[in-house]
Amino acid sequence: MEKVLLKNIDNPDSATIKAYEAAGGYQSLKKALDLEPKKIIEEVKSSGLRGRGGAGFPTGMKWDFASRDPKFPKYLLCNADEGEPGTFKDRPILEKNPHLLIEGMIISAYALQAERGYIYLRGEYPHARDVLEKAIAEAYERGYLGENILGKGFRFDLSVHQGAGAYICGEETALIESIEGRRGQPRIKPPFPVNVGAWGMPTVVNNVETLANIPYIVEIGGEAYAKIGSSDCPGPKLYSISCCVEKPGVYELPMGTSLREIIYEHAGGIKGGRELKAVIPGGISTPVLTPDKIDTPMDFVSLPKIGSMLGSGAIMVFDDTVCLVRVCWRAMRFFEHESCGKCTPCREGTGWMRNILERIENGFGREGDIELLQDVALSISGKTFCPLGDGAANVVLSFIRNFPDEFEYHIKNKKCSAGEE
Ligand code: SF4
Repeated sequence: MEKVLLKNIDNPDSATIKAYEAAGGYQSLKKALDLEPKKIIEEVKSSGLRGRGGAGFPTGMKWDFASRDPKFPKYLLCNADEGEPGTFKDRPILEKNPHLLIEGMIISAYALQAERGYIYLRGEYPHARDVLEKAIAEAYERGYLGENILGKGFRFDLSVHQGAGAYICGEETALIESIEGRRGQPRIKPPFPVNVGAWGMPTVVNNVETLANIPYIVEIGGEAYAKIGSSDCPGPKLYSISCCVEKPGVYELPMGTSLREIIYEHAGGIKGGRELKAVIPGGISTPVLTPDKIDTPMDFVSLPKIGSMLGSGAIMVFDDTVCLVRVCWRAMRFFEHESCGKCTPCREGTGWMRNILERIENGFGREGDIELLQDVALSISGKTFCPLGDGAANVVLSFIRNFPDEFEYHIKNKKCSAGEE
């Protein structure tokens, strides 16, 4: 498949406007500004594009809700706060193809008639901030940003807002709170940001990869785009793959490529030729899978059918030497640390689950600990303000469901069956 999102990133100058324009960049913007904003929304709707941040909500529908709201000004926010363990798929766009994102944002803003946009960037991406700020300055110089863009009477201003390193700010309402200058904690929904978002105005929050797809949709049209990859959720997809594979990295493939193909054909198979033991398909908060499930297409429809989720498409592969109790415990340390504390089940439950997992991992597990862990996880699941709580519960419930023997062995023998010290 022709590269769309990672096009030209092997060019050492790929982040410059000169290289981007030489490869056809900003042509879609020129085309888009001659179209009615509503026509662009229709194209995005017919493309079937679904948000790439994890939830998979239809992008065109989200835009439609915001554009129908009569309130102005409207805001466009790019969610570049990719902070989930295992997720680094947006990074190549931010660092090596920033003009693709900027062009996508200008077209999106025009479709929404939003005059102000922010890229909410992960605190731990200082290099990306420098690259983006330079690219934004170049786009202003060329007349792609600012007043009267390309003489078409449309105005859009864009800047980078760097977070302070809180995972929860990747949740769209916490992101909005943070941009407004408050502590990053989720808001209750409804109202949804498309109607009451930043500063109380209609706001669209889209992920980096989602916005980076927009120039291509304008270029080839929604119908042609809808023919790429899975019919239910089409388009190119960035999959990041890490842990026990020969070639970890970010791969651009058609949506719906199977886990088997990604692991064995693109990522070079399991490191050292070892046995595959477990796979997390979409970032640490998505339920873990056993090796017999790797023929499943990696998309928003197929993975829920086997009890997991696509999430951000961040694949974590574990071989037969990895202690899954330890993976689970480390994941819970992350969730406990990142819980914003707004709701009790998540604030208290993540700490309790970490505590129980820690004692099992350290050889002090007790009879009944597995049931206790499940009880705490079920007391969190579906009872929290935002999906972080569900994500934490998913980890514990899916690891115990799929690998009960590992937990039982740890508790009974006070050591690991995988042989980890
Ligand atoms: Fe905060 Fe956790 Fe509640 Fe989300 S689920 S609002 S992170 S305490």
